[in-house]
This record gives sequence, C-alpha cells and structure tokens, in this order.
Amino acid sequence: MTYASETLPCSSAPGYDRRMTDKPKLHVIDGSATDDDNRQKARKLMQKRPQAACLLRCFRCSGSEVIETKVGMVFKGGKASGGTKQILCATCFMKGERVVLA
Ligand SMILES: [Zn+2]
Repeated sequence: MTYASETLPCSSAPGYDRRMTDKPKLHVIDGSATDDDNRQKARKLMQKRPQAACLLRCFRCSGSEVIETKVGMVFKGGKASGGTKQILCATCFMKGERVVLA
C-alpha cells in the first residue's frame, strides 16, 4: 500500500514549515467600515433629537433666578427690537458679577 502516499495531494503540497518568501498581499477594500458607518448614523440621530430640557442653574452660585438681557438693541418706531439675548444669573449680578448662563 505505498501508492496511497504518492497520490495524496498533501504529500507534495508545501507545509507550514515552508519559508515565507512571498510577501503577504494587502487588499484595499472599498467603502468604510461598518462600525464607522454606525457611528455616523448615531451622530445624525443625536443632531435630529432636541436636547433634553433641564433647569437653568448658575454654575457659580447654583442659583436658579436669572435675568434676561439684550445687547445691541435697535430703537425704531417707538419700539426696541433686535439685539443679542443673554441670560445672566440674578444673584451673581447683585453681587456685581456678570455670569452668562445662556
Ligand atoms: Zn450665580
């Protein structure tokens, strides 16, 4: 029964002990990875979703009383309009400090 070893394909095939003379080929895959894709989807969802409501508190004195101010209003036709709205902490403002909350 010597003919079996001659016809076996693995007998002539290179084994694992063969030296790696050929460099392993690097394949460039088109498109992005699925993990990156999922992250982008999550980011889009977060942008669509409105931010959760929370009580506006001063980060300095933790007070919740605020003053709404406007900078750069235009007085026109007996009415003041426009300007940039800012919300300041009332408690800090009384102490002479201007803490902008929003
Ligand atoms: Zn404050």
